[in-house]
Amino acid sequence: MISTDRVARPRHLEPGRVLDADTSRCPFCPGNESHTPPSLLTVNGPDGWRVRAFPNRFPAVGIEGELDARARGPYDVVGGVGAHEVIVETRDHVRPPWHDPRQQALALLAARDRMRDLARDSRFQAILWFRNHGPEAGASLGHPHAQVVALPIVPPRLAHITKRFRRHHQAHGRELMKDVLDFERADRRRVLFDDVQTTTFLAYAPRFAFETWIVPNAPAASFLEATDAMIDEVATAMCRVIVAFDRVLAEPPHNALIVTAPAGSGPGFRWHITLMPRMAAFAGFELLSGASLTGTAPEEAARLMRTKL
Ligand SMILES: [Zn+2]
Repeated sequence: MISTDRVARPRHLEPGRVLDADTSRCPFCPGNESHTPPSLLTVNGPDGWRVRAFPNRFPAVGIEGELDARARGPYDVVGGVGAHEVIVETRDHVRPPWHDPRQQALALLAARDRMRDLARDSRFQAILWFRNHGPEAGASLGHPHAQVVALPIVPPRLAHITKRFRRHHQAHGRELMKDVLDFERADRRRVLFDDVQTTTFLAYAPRFAFETWIVPNAPAASFLEATDAMIDEVATAMCRVIVAFDRVLAEPPHNALIVTAPAGSGPGFRWHITLMPRMAAFAGFELLSGASLTGTAPEEAARLMRTKL
């Protein structure tokens, strides 16, 4: 994807710093609301807003315009129509939402509601939620925030996941994620904890060391259908995992992702959350091979994490 609008976005963070100290310039802090576009959603509390969502000022894709899919020489090209929103996950510049499960739940509920709203637009095939924390994870501002992007296509990695889920279901009549859960629960070595509605475990084949998944125990294709109770539980699990990252890895940058079914995904898809500390960059091996080299086995990562939960 090429997005020239994003070149102009402000950079408050320097490598190695997860937080910009000068809150007076922070567009996401209370009092600076006029520095952002008007809110699409506001969650209020006794002291003012607690979560805000608004259009990204430097969007990767724009809400106006035509899809205009066409071939140009050897390339398939599609217009950059879509939506790109920011969710400020807390009014507190310094205290991240993963130190407060209730606040994290409010931010995820707001995310679900924005994603539901965008899914009503029939142009959009895939809705992405992600959080970049720290410059090495792609954040340009330190104030805790997540992003929602709606795309007019199913992007390649999501298409690949969808195909894997669908083929496994066609071949075996079972969800791939059910078989993964059965295997992980029997093996135990990568499981961090079992909750009422979800299981949290280290990825068997991680892209980055300490990559952790939160997976619903029952079939559920779309995060957009998640109940408030499910989101409460997921928020608590997410907080426990990231606090354990902080304790084991000394507050690393991280990415958090919600993988939810795109349009037309068919049977076998189960939504899940991926949490990845970013201690290493993608290097030549990863860029060329599409595979990852990591320095810590997931079983060892799980052992270290369990001591800090
Ligand atoms: Zn701030």
